[in-house]
Amino acid sequence: MEKDTLFGKTLKELQEICVRLGLPTFSAKQIAEWLYQKDIQDIDGMSNISLKNRQLLKDSFDFGISLTSKVQESVDGTKKYLYPTKSEKFIEAAYIPENERATLCVSSQIGCKMGCLFCMTGKQGFQGNLTAGEILNQVRSLPEREKLTNIVYMGMGEPLDNTDEVLKSLEIFTAEWGFAMSPKRITVSTIGIIPSLEKFLDQSDCHLAISLHTPFDDERKMLMPVQNIYPIAEVIAFVKNFDWTKQRRISIEYIMFKGLNDSPRHVNQLARLLNGLNCRINLIRFHPIPGTPLESTDIEDITIFRDKLNAKGITATIRRSRGEDIYAACGLLSTKELMKKDKTDY
Ligand code: SF4
Repeated sequence: MEKDTLFGKTLKELQEICVRLGLPTFSAKQIAEWLYQKDIQDIDGMSNISLKNRQLLKDSFDFGISLTSKVQESVDGTKKYLYPTKSEKFIEAAYIPENERATLCVSSQIGCKMGCLFCMTGKQGFQGNLTAGEILNQVRSLPEREKLTNIVYMGMGEPLDNTDEVLKSLEIFTAEWGFAMSPKRITVSTIGIIPSLEKFLDQSDCHLAISLHTPFDDERKMLMPVQNIYPIAEVIAFVKNFDWTKQRRISIEYIMFKGLNDSPRHVNQLARLLNGLNCRINLIRFHPIPGTPLESTDIEDITIFRDKLNAKGITATIRRSRGEDIYAACGLLSTKELMKKDKTDY
């Protein structure tokens, strides 16, 4: 039988393990430091735990990290890493260096069940949730870990469809006994699953991004089936009731599709919808994916759209396209890898 892993456990869980195995409870903090703050790869490396106690740990647990299995590097320095999961699938994380900042875009699920029309991960379908350990491992095993300044949950999967493991990973990223990162350097992106959103806002201090993509009901239903259950008007009404004054930020993600969501009518409706919400809109060029008729709005028209939003008092910026030559939009690399493995046509 496969052993459980230590990596991905909270301090409280480590304390329970210590009690169960008869280790002193202060060892839990020492183990957490080895897992989240030092650079060892196995339980044998935990040199301040006695040999006998290390053996007890090894009898029941694996250390639990897995190294990257593949990397693609863009001419602009963006790197896309592939990580194998315990269930023998693949997930991706994109490392995006930019001036003083270096961001890792992490995955929260293998595939996704949300079926957004424009998304390669959505086309893969859902193949499983990641554990907190598998989410954290994308940072722990990142070759550029020391340079990392920010984390965004915008890779494969819908984070708030795997809320408990995502919240656990956020606790470990931000705890002083964990990675000790500021929650202000972490953003969780969602398509707007209201009950989980409430839980996330309640239990974490990290920033929020909402994938909006069109303010109109019929268009959003066509692009994002979640609109049938949680209409964007209800999601925005819900977040308007939250207190955003305490250094916590909300941003809106808006992928621009030519002839679909880039008209003056969209500007007006967005301004109405977001009126009273202190947020920023990130306008994003669409990276076309195989088998979709959708095209990206031209950069000139995105600029006009941005200026019109700004004129209406909505802060809008254009997100720089990164890693286009390696297809940094999530889902493609892992899809290729799955196809090799399963000989499936996605
Ligand atoms: S855009 Fe996000 S929520 Fe939609 S299918 Fe892709 S990964 Fe899932």
